[in-house]
Amino acid sequence: MLADKDRIFTNLYGLRDRSLKGAMARGHWDNTKGLIEKGRDWIIDEMKASGLRGRGGAGFPTGLKWSFMPKQNDGRPHYLVVNADESEPGTCKDRDIMRHDPHTLIEGCVIAGCAMGAHTAYIYVRGEYIREREALQAAIDECYDAKLLGKNSKCGWDMDIYVHHGAGAYICGEETALIESLEGKKGQPRLKPPFPANVGLYGCPTTVNNVESIAVAPTILRRGGAWFAGIGRPNNVGTKLFMVSGHVEMPCTFEEAMGLSFREIIEKHCGGIRGGWNNLLAVIPGGASCPVVRGEDIADATMDFDGMRELKSSFGTGGMIVMDKSTDIVKAIWRIAAFFKHESCGQCTPCREGTGWMMRVLERMVVGNAQKREIDMLLEVSKQVEGHTICALGDAAAWPIQGLIRNFRPEIERRIDEYTRNADSSRPALEAAE
Ligand code: SF4
Repeated sequence: MLADKDRIFTNLYGLRDRSLKGAMARGHWDNTKGLIEKGRDWIIDEMKASGLRGRGGAGFPTGLKWSFMPKQNDGRPHYLVVNADESEPGTCKDRDIMRHDPHTLIEGCVIAGCAMGAHTAYIYVRGEYIREREALQAAIDECYDAKLLGKNSKCGWDMDIYVHHGAGAYICGEETALIESLEGKKGQPRLKPPFPANVGLYGCPTTVNNVESIAVAPTILRRGGAWFAGIGRPNNVGTKLFMVSGHVEMPCTFEEAMGLSFREIIEKHCGGIRGGWNNLLAVIPGGASCPVVRGEDIADATMDFDGMRELKSSFGTGGMIVMDKSTDIVKAIWRIAAFFKHESCGQCTPCREGTGWMMRVLERMVVGNAQKREIDMLLEVSKQVEGHTICALGDAAAWPIQGLIRNFRPEIERRIDEYTRNADSSRPALEAAE
């Protein structure tokens, strides 16, 4: 279990002073200049040593990502872009950072900017996060007043931070769509390569990072990469913000060490499953795009990247959606399919057509109005969408459906049988009425 002294976010619930003064009293902005003076290579090496994996869902090593930025400046400015678009259903951690502990993020931007040779950062905030943007902007203004940002910064690295408000499209959380949107264009993902580290915002080298990945960097550097790497198990280290929603006694967001089992997490932070562990039906472990898994399979699994991969699911953002036996699981996955259909940007045919097709088939399966052979057909189509699109939304739409079929096929078949039985039994009555 995570000790209080190892917490990075000390004001996650907004119970304490979120101002610059309050943040400094809690240890943030402590010797930022000293960290910057150690230089770009030291920062990147220490981030690599920490083993931090991106907290936005993909889990790509953060230090490695920073090292992709060109070392030599060819005259183009470098940009840091912070992805605060947080639109994945079940995920709500970045909003707590922005509204209650914004200085962790701002200090992180300065340090990450130094590591990337970037003097400008854009924070792209989800359209619905209005209070969060206001809190963040107020904190940035405080830092300009205190000369922690802007020209001749006291930190030793000049950094300007601009907060950009999105318009609420899920796809703008995809890094290249986010860049397009920042440039004032329609938020549609770009084909890669070229990767943003070479050709990103305004055609310049750019790194896009999740809010949490940037916000944890200052504490990691202050305490040392080895400290962070010592929490959890190899390849899955550090502390993490977890979010639990759905059928637990106490849904909440909290910081915890990686490496705990699902059961430990739920018992410690959420007061258990509603109706007890025998009432647990299914869990989506890391945001709506992750394959759903059966309750009995996840109960004692380790909640980290490797643990969820072993269950053929994904750790994603750490946003767990818990469903008890009162859940209509087919309808729940249909609802997610409807979400992805709605959010598809329409550029690629497998995603544009496939998401709608899968949603419509699932809609019939909710009531059992389907043929059993359509289950395999649906699985096949989901595989034709997965991996055949410009961005990962195609995968995100396919995986929950694959998880449903893998883990709950008998339930789909039961509904089809029941529907067929009811249709057969009502036929003679209908014929008689004619
Ligand atoms: Fe757009 Fe979907 Fe293609 Fe992504 S996969 S670019 S959301 S159509």
